[in-house]
Amino acid sequence: MNGLMMQKKLLISSLIVHADRHHGDTQIVSRRVEGDIHRYTFRDCHRRARQMANALTSLGVKPSDRIGTLAWNGYRHLELYYGVSGMGAILHTINPRLHEDQVAYIANHAEDQYVFFDLTFLPLIKAVAGRCNTVKAFIAMTDQAHMPTDAGIDNLLCYEDLIEQSSSVYAWPVLDEDAASTLCYTSGTTGNPKGVLYSHRSSMLHTYAAALPDALNCSAREVILPVVPMFHVNAWGLPYIACMVGAKLVFPGPALDGKSLYELLEAEQVTLSAGVPTVWQGLLSHVEETGQSFSSMRRTIIGGAACTPAMLRKFQETYGVAVLHVWGMTELSPMGTICTMKARHVEMPQEKRYAVQSKQGRAVYGVDMKIVGADGMELPWDGATSGDLLVRGHSVVRDYFRSEGDSPLQIDHEGQEWFPTGDVATIDADGFMQITDRSKDVIKSGGEWIGSIDLENIAMAHPAVSQAACIAAKHAKWDERPLLIVVRKQQADLTREELLAFYEGKIAKWWTPDDVVFVDEIPLGATGKILKNQLRERFGDFLMQPAECQRVA
Ligand code: AMP
Repeated sequence: MNGLMMQKKLLISSLIVHADRHHGDTQIVSRRVEGDIHRYTFRDCHRRARQMANALTSLGVKPSDRIGTLAWNGYRHLELYYGVSGMGAILHTINPRLHEDQVAYIANHAEDQYVFFDLTFLPLIKAVAGRCNTVKAFIAMTDQAHMPTDAGIDNLLCYEDLIEQSSSVYAWPVLDEDAASTLCYTSGTTGNPKGVLYSHRSSMLHTYAAALPDALNCSAREVILPVVPMFHVNAWGLPYIACMVGAKLVFPGPALDGKSLYELLEAEQVTLSAGVPTVWQGLLSHVEETGQSFSSMRRTIIGGAACTPAMLRKFQETYGVAVLHVWGMTELSPMGTICTMKARHVEMPQEKRYAVQSKQGRAVYGVDMKIVGADGMELPWDGATSGDLLVRGHSVVRDYFRSEGDSPLQIDHEGQEWFPTGDVATIDADGFMQITDRSKDVIKSGGEWIGSIDLENIAMAHPAVSQAACIAAKHAKWDERPLLIVVRKQQADLTREELLAFYEGKIAKWWTPDDVVFVDEIPLGATGKILKNQLRERFGDFLMQPAECQRVA
């Protein structure tokens, strides 16, 4: 027997409809690429999202067509979040920090029909336009007055023209809630970037779960500033959460330095913000240097990389800002765990609570997790035994978009499907997970991935290199940076500078390894694979204390 309740599909458009009807005059404030501050309301956003849906229909966009964006956090990007997904097309947020070859690869792999871009990314668009085979037009997210005159791009359209020419009368279609809504490629895997294709249902369930009190605890009384980009897993879902709860949204645009962020946080009386540790380091340095403090910010969400105990203490003890440590992945929509206390932790002495807070946290509703050993058997939740971290849930990836390889899932002894995260972790008796290592062969620098295999392949192409391995070395500012370990060919004469110069033009500049260590041999396992964990143990601190490690080397 079925229940007798109304059948209302879980659709992303329902979020902006709700925000308009119940929080219509709540503000959305954006620092624009044009330099000024833009201010409007959820009601305005909904009207313009409907105009954009009409504009896309006029351009011939059909359900399931992919629409790319190369854009900062701002109100026009938000309109596309709702206009594109709401009409049944798929919003494909592209990471503009990737090398132009990867951007072209991703746009072609996704078969993007249109690409919207902020003016900052005009040089990137110019570089890739000729290679994006399926794109019918590029749309500059600006008004006529700011349109580039000498872009040299065929089919360049103006965002504000599209809005102006379109009616605001539009009824959001009732889609299948399992229909795809959003596409986001991750470089946090080996090989080419892989597309994670979210559905309306998975996004809505993620939004409900992430907003809960023991998760991000969001409400209509909150002013939220997502520093985490809207091209990184939908800014961790905050643009959806803000609509669901009616929170004021503040978008920083391209200005992510400490001074600009601080000014915006204060001017808009932001209460909650979210970002990777590197961004917060910039902000903390700014307030320390200027002797300022936060007048309104009560909480900050830190994730994407581990939040250090030092940062935790600085925020909480010096500035009275509570830290919420989170762990997630593009493949998880992204929230996996959030570090909020259980009742028994509240009475704990502060020092013990810090130890708990440094962990990545406990599972958000909808995510199940376990740690397993090499034999695939589950390991105990004792806070000491570490194993490969597996997850499953209604907002967890099942397969990558148009993937040609094997399924990414593992089947356990009970026939259950799990997604292997590539992280190595412990779980304690209270269910708090702590990342202890990473088995995947990638480097995370300032919240962005760098593929170690690409860097090794380039080094190996140098005629004087016999063997090369690239590892994630700890870095004070960027969390991790690539360090190259190299065995020279016999009699070959190769310097660090020559090898680093060899990378020029082959990769995005910020991917270039920070340093090169020359060794006599690189440790190999039984199957001939490089033993990266041994190298990480030996050289992981190289960039922190180069002199000491050099002696070891
Ligand atoms: P991404 O898909 O780019 O969001 O990257 C996800 C990966 O970032 C995870 O699998 C972890 O390796 C890493 N990560 C994310 N959050 C944290 C955290 N709080 N602590 C440590 N590593 C993290």
